[in-house]
Amino acid sequence: MKTELLEKQTFIEPDKIFKLLEENRNPSKQQIREIISKSLEIETLTPQEVACLINLKDEDLWHEIFKTALEIKKKVYDNRIVVFAPLYITSYCINNCLYCGFRKTNTVVQRKVLTFDEIKKEVQVLAGDIGHKRVIAVFGEHPKYSNIDYIVKTLQTIYSVKVTTKTGSLASIRRVNVNCAPLSVEELKLLKQAGIGTYQVFQETYHPGMYRKIHPNNTPKSNYEWRLYCMHRALEAGIEDVGIGVLYGLYDWRFEILALVCHARELEEKYGVGPHTVSFPRLEPAINTPFVEKTPYKVKDEELKKIITIIRLAIPYTGMIITARESKEFRDEVFKLGITQTDASSKIGVGSYSQPQQQQQPNLQQFILGDTRTLEELILDLAKMGYITSFCTAGYRCGRTGDKIMNLIKCGKEAVFCKLNAILTFREWIDDFATEEVKKEVEPIIEKELKEVEQKLPKWFPHLVEFYNRIKNGERDIYF
Ligand code: SAM
Ligand code: SF4
Repeated sequence: MKTELLEKQTFIEPDKIFKLLEENRNPSKQQIREIISKSLEIETLTPQEVACLINLKDEDLWHEIFKTALEIKKKVYDNRIVVFAPLYITSYCINNCLYCGFRKTNTVVQRKVLTFDEIKKEVQVLAGDIGHKRVIAVFGEHPKYSNIDYIVKTLQTIYSVKVTTKTGSLASIRRVNVNCAPLSVEELKLLKQAGIGTYQVFQETYHPGMYRKIHPNNTPKSNYEWRLYCMHRALEAGIEDVGIGVLYGLYDWRFEILALVCHARELEEKYGVGPHTVSFPRLEPAINTPFVEKTPYKVKDEELKKIITIIRLAIPYTGMIITARESKEFRDEVFKLGITQTDASSKIGVGSYSQPQQQQQPNLQQFILGDTRTLEELILDLAKMGYITSFCTAGYRCGRTGDKIMNLIKCGKEAVFCKLNAILTFREWIDDFATEEVKKEVEPIIEKELKEVEQKLPKWFPHLVEFYNRIKNGERDIYF
């Protein structure tokens, strides 16, 4: 599909993207090896280099690239996977995105918006029973149920909840990320004041023509440019952690990932800071939503694996999120390709954490989840694969955001903080939430990590031991 003549000029230039894909159809081994070396230096790739990776067919080289992806992840974020939970606040929406169960004209969906008391109940389960420390609050777009005052008050409500755990310590949500409609700079400044973690908005598709087809033009979401520039506005408003993504299955993934890299580079060039996270949502079935079955752009597992790997190499500093939209088997595989964050114990029906009878009812949900593992189950599975689960939320609370974190990442220092804070926050979770059985299974992973710090980071080890012992003695929320 070619760009329509009347399209406004933005930093996404579809014709140039198609041309790059065409011109780099047969990358040489030498070119690919140079790209691999550049990624290992934690340098953002050019669109031309990304086009070479997209077009690569040589399976032996792909094998090398998969290994490189994990190497980069270890270099930047060490051996940890950060966990969070989605917290759906409202299913009311005035948009009509063809692929979404929450679209306005989907009359079979039972609409709900949480009251602030209900939000508190959800947080009590998330923080007090399960042990989560970070959530992403998710909103449909609605002038009444998701206006900026409501979003700000939601953040304040979530942060206000303190729950006494069964061991007597105080648990709370320490980082609230937000996924909501694109906002203005003034509104984003209010979110910043309210203590937002990451501001996440997916472009869905970067192709302007396809974007307009699937977002009917009598809805606010039909404005491609307003959405495309929302991270510019967030950075102007002082929110330094921004999260971007494509909804895979709407358009040709080759175009999409090249465009996404252009987005990252544009933010880097203009603001000195690229995306804090990139997410990889793929279309899932949703109630009464035939579009999902009909799309000609379905992305296969093997393709999504390559997409994740290419982004790991192309934007090596970024955090990468895979959600419970995907099956357990698929998630376990892509943890080996550089994913850094995932959700667990997820329930996406509005109000489903505190009202278990509503769990996983299709007419309450935006789409159907692929992996319903509990946090405990995920932690055990990650431990079996040699990963430590992290509940770290230190970054934004001690100013490691934006260009500061970018620099720390590039020189390998962020990986040190990641490692130390993963150990401390995992210790907290074990002591407050793990059953005796789970404790037995996961203690070896924490022992292994402690040994590694002693051997590889001897300067940090005494500080870590001091903090670690304080946590064992009941102190909470201490971090590097
Ligand atoms: N309403 C806000 C918006 O559209 O930006 C944010 C909330 S929406 C609930 C979060 C994301 O879910 C969307 O940006 C879209 O990428 C994704 N989504 C929508 N329908 C989906 C489906 N059927 N399968 C998987 N993900 C979907
Ligand atoms: Fe509304 Fe977002 Fe769903 Fe579109 S994707 S219908 S804006 S909730």
